[in-house]
Amino acid sequence: MTYPWGDERRFNSYSNYFTKQFGGRVQKISIDAGFSCPNRDGKISTGGCTFCSNEAFNPSYCRPEKSIKQQIEEGIEFHQRRYRRANKYLAYFQPFSNTYKPIEELKNIYEQAFEAIDFHLPQCPPRNDMASKALETPEIIGIVIGTRPDLVDEVLLQYLKEIQKSHYVMLEYGVESVYNETLKRVNRGHDFATAEKAIRMTVDYGIPCGAHFIFGLPGESKDMMLDAADIISRLPLTTVKFHQLQIFKGTTMAEEYLEHPEHFHLFNLEEYIDFVIDFAERLNPHIVIERFAGEVPPRYLVSEPWMKLRYDEVLCRIEKRMEERDTWQGRLYTPHS
Ligand code: SF4
Repeated sequence: MTYPWGDERRFNSYSNYFTKQFGGRVQKISIDAGFSCPNRDGKISTGGCTFCSNEAFNPSYCRPEKSIKQQIEEGIEFHQRRYRRANKYLAYFQPFSNTYKPIEELKNIYEQAFEAIDFHLPQCPPRNDMASKALETPEIIGIVIGTRPDLVDEVLLQYLKEIQKSHYVMLEYGVESVYNETLKRVNRGHDFATAEKAIRMTVDYGIPCGAHFIFGLPGESKDMMLDAADIISRLPLTTVKFHQLQIFKGTTMAEEYLEHPEHFHLFNLEEYIDFVIDFAERLNPHIVIERFAGEVPPRYLVSEPWMKLRYDEVLCRIEKRMEERDTWQGRLYTPHS
């Protein structure tokens, strides 16, 4: 059976999205450009989100003391050795809040990635021609900027709209929960309305938008998490990323967890697989699912590391279970007027 997104996988996959846009697999290269975060440096708070541990997500090649060009080159080498599957890459400004600087400094940082792009791809074709242009050498086709939804404004969006004429650009917001009481409890420092406003404003500028959510934050029941599928489905998102709650060493949440483990419900693997399938059934089929789960080395965790499996293996199990249940993304989705 072919699903509404045009292939036989039972969810609207990130790989299918990029294959349609660029004619092949695309890999993100993480870059640490030395940004900070207003939820840590005192502008909003000093504690940060209670779950936050950026160290756990940084690949070894990704260090702010290296230039952006060097991180891109080492990142391509790393991925080619490990996966050998992609020859198109996105420079992914990932750790902390990658729009948290004055606009002139941001331009300088992002443009360093474009210089690296030019280094690998002297004649970068216009975006619409990319799908038809088969290139054998690795190439960087654009940038993805991860940030907080309270750190974008019209000046930045206008600039990104301009650079989008020649390169792929996506903004990826940490939203984490649709419930204000949860956001308050984890010291997020913004509410859901702020995230919704940023997403709508970004899309109004013609820039594709991704969002990140965590399943299992304290205070949320399974029903609340499933109801969030309806709310997320109404947002004009291109992609979503989901992570199961994992509790990292050294975080405020780790202290809470070690003191009161009974306040937390952490999914085990089988339960999580069925849960994310229940969620995907309700999710708008137009939204691309970039990830169903997070993958972090167990040494960073105080919670049970069920993810000793690689993400690819977890994804395989999710797809197999979808087959057993004969279900797919959007099967229970009802469009809203
Ligand atoms: S906004 Fe991001 S970087 Fe800042 S404290 Fe929260 S999770 Fe960490």
